[in-house]
Amino acid sequence: MIGSYAAVILKQKSLRLDRVFDYRIPDRLRESVRVGSLLRVPFGTGNTEREGYCVDILEETEIPAERLKDVLGVSENAVPAEAEMIRMAAWLRQRYGSTMIQALMTCLPVREKVRKVVTRTWVPAVPEEQLRSLQEETAGRGNQKARLRLLDAVLLLGYIDEAAMDAYDISQAVLKHFTDQGILCLEEEEVSRDPYATVTGQEYAEPPLSERQREAADGIEAKLLEKPGSACYLCGVTGSGKTLVYTELIARTVARGQQAIFLIPEIALTYQTVQRFRARFGDRVSVLHSRLSAGERFDQFERAARGEIDVMVGPRSALFTPFPSLGLIVMDEEHEDSYKSETSPCYHAREAAAWRARDCGAGFVLGSATPSVEAYKSIRSGDVAYFTLPERARAGSRPPEVRIIDMREEMKRGNKSIFSEELASLMEERLERREQILLFLNRRGYAGALTCRACGEVIKCPHCDVSLTLHGKTRLLCHYCGYTRPVPSECPSCGSPYIAAFGIGTQKVEEAVRAMFPSARTLRMDLDTTSGKGGHDRILRAFGAGEADILIGTQMIVKGHDFPRVTLVGIVAADLSLSMPDHRAAEKTYQLLVQAAGRAGRAERPGTAVIQTYQPEHFCIRAAAAGDYDAFYREEEAYRLLMKYPPFFRMVTVTFASKSEAECSAYASDAAAFLASQNARLAPEKAFLLIGPAQPPVAKRKDVYYRTVCAKGSSLQTAVWLKDSLTAWALSRKEKVSIQFDIR
Ligand code: ADP
Ligand code: ZN
Ligand code: ZN
Repeated sequence: MIGSYAAVILKQKSLRLDRVFDYRIPDRLRESVRVGSLLRVPFGTGNTEREGYCVDILEETEIPAERLKDVLGVSENAVPAEAEMIRMAAWLRQRYGSTMIQALMTCLPVREKVRKVVTRTWVPAVPEEQLRSLQEETAGRGNQKARLRLLDAVLLLGYIDEAAMDAYDISQAVLKHFTDQGILCLEEEEVSRDPYATVTGQEYAEPPLSERQREAADGIEAKLLEKPGSACYLCGVTGSGKTLVYTELIARTVARGQQAIFLIPEIALTYQTVQRFRARFGDRVSVLHSRLSAGERFDQFERAARGEIDVMVGPRSALFTPFPSLGLIVMDEEHEDSYKSETSPCYHAREAAAWRARDCGAGFVLGSATPSVEAYKSIRSGDVAYFTLPERARAGSRPPEVRIIDMREEMKRGNKSIFSEELASLMEERLERREQILLFLNRRGYAGALTCRACGEVIKCPHCDVSLTLHGKTRLLCHYCGYTRPVPSECPSCGSPYIAAFGIGTQKVEEAVRAMFPSARTLRMDLDTTSGKGGHDRILRAFGAGEADILIGTQMIVKGHDFPRVTLVGIVAADLSLSMPDHRAAEKTYQLLVQAAGRAGRAERPGTAVIQTYQPEHFCIRAAAAGDYDAFYREEEAYRLLMKYPPFFRMVTVTFASKSEAECSAYASDAAAFLASQNARLAPEKAFLLIGPAQPPVAKRKDVYYRTVCAKGSSLQTAVWLKDSLTAWALSRKEKVSIQFDIR
């Protein structure tokens, strides 16, 4: 290694240690210290031994020789960080705000080597005749039963392994006797721990590409080859067969000798995805996610780095798979929230994937039936090429008929049930025809926002235009800006006294179904029924096999599952997601409604989707029913521009956390004042709008209190500058308050 000094990032959380420390590399370690190695180094006045990653090798250092310390050694047990991942970590740190070590840990989902698993087999080292005569001799002696058992076994099987030792009751001592004599010899073989080893894909037959699918694949491939590092969007209605296009693109990447990463929004979708890909790519497909054992993860990570696999499937952390020549990143269901990290660095996998693709010249393909507003904005600006699949792939399958039911009318007619008359009668009809029904509820009983049952109005913050939520019994609170007001006794817009928090859960829906249709067989899918390994798959498989007529569930049931016998989807309370205290409530609702409706009529039998709502005139509900994304986007863009929300403006959310509520709250106020003083330095067009401090939706968790401060403005550069100056400010403070940034 050229260079004599190692630039080291310590494996310590503290913001104060978030910088590079230089160390001398002693001659004896010249060969083993590399960029990415985990080093042992002395630190502080007591020279305590610490660990840190070497992020650079330097020829010179500004540290005077007498203060320079030596690297103590290289941690052999650590998985080194690839240079590409160190670059990516530096970008994550700068773009999203975190310490370098947090960013590096994010880019290194597998950090520790886990001892290899080896299979041990003992095979004969002498010809068979010799074994047979030995068997005869031993049998003749009569007192060597254990040795005889081993000889019987090896003559029958041709080898001894652990299973045979168990079955024939062979001890280590007897085995040792035979190996010492040179009669048996040990063969060891490393096995890769593959969690999906039994998934072969044989059960899955891949149909040939349709004309449209081929056109999309050809178009995307041409675009990506023309401009390496660029991105394409595949927008296809639910059931249009996007997966087959991805598979084709991956196959072409592999044929060029490159590898691909396939991102899925949640672990629950791994099984079916691996099944589909193994049908095409055999065992050169692997999986990386947090529910695997450390050994499984290490083995798959290493196989990838060695170039032994072609496709890595997994949730957002799979993005950090080391590959010798990454050619393609695919992000399925791009609009899903799970692609965003909730811990520092709060990165979005969409942006991180785009960065990695640019960094290494790979292609990036995003896909969904319901693009996120962020992605659609980059499509409109021409940054991302756009391809569509406007029709369902299966012959005879048509998009569902969507009906909107005005629940205010039901109320006026005196129907207080969860189900409108129309949904109830459609359910009855499907049950008679022995077709299946999905009943869908957004979120398990999200309560908090107040809605008027007479006019549909949700009570919102006058400053932020997001729902206010109940705080205790008598006050309403804005989680963005901290605005608060008493709970009104009547609807501010129509004067009706029927305002209440929505509190409906899947259990309540199930009870209502049972009361109305006592003979219907129901299955319920929510956090209660799916806990435990394989909980999801068990319920989905049972429903797929026709063991129930009605599946009731939260958003888990709308994702990626294909049930040909479902001809009715009931969206019980579309307003639950509309009253979410989030500026993306309409976007989330649009996506949910379209995805849920898309579960109806996936095969020949036509499907119907019923949307029950108190706000039938809301633009996102009308656009979703019509499947008109552009109509939705136009309204949404106007709203966000007006309110200065992302992606049209930048929003920095700073979250403060402390064990003391008073300290947290005072600190947040000081930080807000500091930000205001920084803001005052900016030219008016660059200045941010500061909001808060406020209490986030969960203001206390595990005895830690939280406060937030928000800033909205036009430039990402300025957002990053605000983040950096607040970080510097925090370093000058003594309080033990932690800070987390979220820059959208
Ligand atoms: P999407 O992800 O776009 O919603 P999928 O990829 O899950 O759609 O495909 C939907 C269904 O259509 C699947 O059952 C799939 O097997 C089927 N399908 C896809 N492509 C074809 C094709 N070319 N011919 C016949 N069936 C197809
Ligand atoms: Zn009202
Ligand atoms: Zn507000």
